[in-house]
Amino acid sequence: METPNTLLEKIYGYSAFREGQLDIINSVLAGQKTLGIMPTGGGKSITYQISGLLLPGITLVISPLISLIQNQVDELISARVTATELTSALSPEEQEKRKQEIYRGLYKFVFIAPERLENEYFYSFLSQLNLSLVVIDEAHSLSQWGHDFRPAYLNSVNYIQNLPQHPRVLALTATATKRVEEEIVDLLEIQKVVKTSPYRPNLVLKMEHGLSKKQKLDFILRYVKAHANEVGIIYASKRAEVEEITEFLVANNINARRYHAGLSDQERTEAQHAFLYDEADVIVATVAFGMGINKSNVRYVIHNNMPGTIEAYYQEIGRAGRDGLDSEVTLLYSTSDADTQRFFIDHSENQSPEFRDVQLNKLQEMIRYGSTQMCLQRYIMRYFGEDIENCGRCTNCLDARPAVDETKLAESIIGAVLEVTELGRTASKTTLIDILRGTLNENMSWTNF
Ligand code: ADP
Repeated sequence: METPNTLLEKIYGYSAFREGQLDIINSVLAGQKTLGIMPTGGGKSITYQISGLLLPGITLVISPLISLIQNQVDELISARVTATELTSALSPEEQEKRKQEIYRGLYKFVFIAPERLENEYFYSFLSQLNLSLVVIDEAHSLSQWGHDFRPAYLNSVNYIQNLPQHPRVLALTATATKRVEEEIVDLLEIQKVVKTSPYRPNLVLKMEHGLSKKQKLDFILRYVKAHANEVGIIYASKRAEVEEITEFLVANNINARRYHAGLSDQERTEAQHAFLYDEADVIVATVAFGMGINKSNVRYVIHNNMPGTIEAYYQEIGRAGRDGLDSEVTLLYSTSDADTQRFFIDHSENQSPEFRDVQLNKLQEMIRYGSTQMCLQRYIMRYFGEDIENCGRCTNCLDARPAVDETKLAESIIGAVLEVTELGRTASKTTLIDILRGTLNENMSWTNF
């Protein structure tokens, strides 16, 4: 009889489970609604795959992105496990054909995006299947407190709970703060949480402050040249910046590719392929790139701009060093990039005041990360509710400068700003500096700048 261990060996060729994997599988097999929290690269996919294979019926996997779904289906098929997807990327005829095949029991795993559950016809189709397990991948998208809240994910909860087959439920996510965890537990009536540490000691966290746009480009070029035999990812917040950085690197003879949501499907697939098969040294991308990309030897990640949340940052840098080898990740931190993130919040699909508050708070945490003097790994781990020793090799741990008490200076700056505001004025950075230095231009008095 197959057991989790025999399947691990037979299908994936691995000899031992990683921390947490077997606990998740056993919990699902015991019929408990389970939440698995493991860092990116921790091996979540195997947990739902082995659970599904050991149960008699179909496993339905709810997943947020079509590219992610295709990746997972391909991986299962290459492991000779039957799997298919029902997504809007397929023609209606193809979808109909696959539904019939699913009904006939030809697939062990079926992948969908959460929106599909809202379709009445699909739901009644689903209700007739021999369904053993529902997997909710990227489950932080269920939570208002998560960094990627998706209303369709939240709606899916009701649909799942009302399924006549009462399938088992397994929710999986990489990053969950205590609050997100609690919300998922509440919503899905989770009976067992298996959580492994998000700590990735092989990531060496670096930060560069106050570089201008041009200096950032030069930094990136120098860095990529210095890591010529390694593969890396460069993240930028905006498509235009992705274009600019890629052009600059290519003009300097770097084999770089670009990836963002404004490109055609074909261009994106090509870029992804080139990256996966080492035909490109570096990929410059927006956050559209990366989820579900299973490339083990990414040696560095550079963020040209700060992301909007620490969760997003940790997930993005987590794409480096999946093979466990040391990998360096660098944040080019400039406070002006917070404006871009505020813009994203202002223009997000979700405009509820609560959501906005949560996102602004998360952004504030990200900004604090940029100015902390604490060990960078430690700062992030504390954010996730865990304390660790100083890593000893991040920018802050290696910063030999003595700590200087700048309270007086900070008080003077705040004082000057307050005086200006009390006068009902605004002052530019240069004017403020002039005020503080006492070098305000002769013909400009306090009141007429
Ligand atoms: P996650 O979904 O948590 O980001 P994956 O499931 O994609 O992570 O797994 C990351 C990598 O680790 C994959 O290459 C996977 O094959 C490998 N892996 C998973 N479990 C094990 C294991 N028990 N032993 C060795 N490698 C494993």
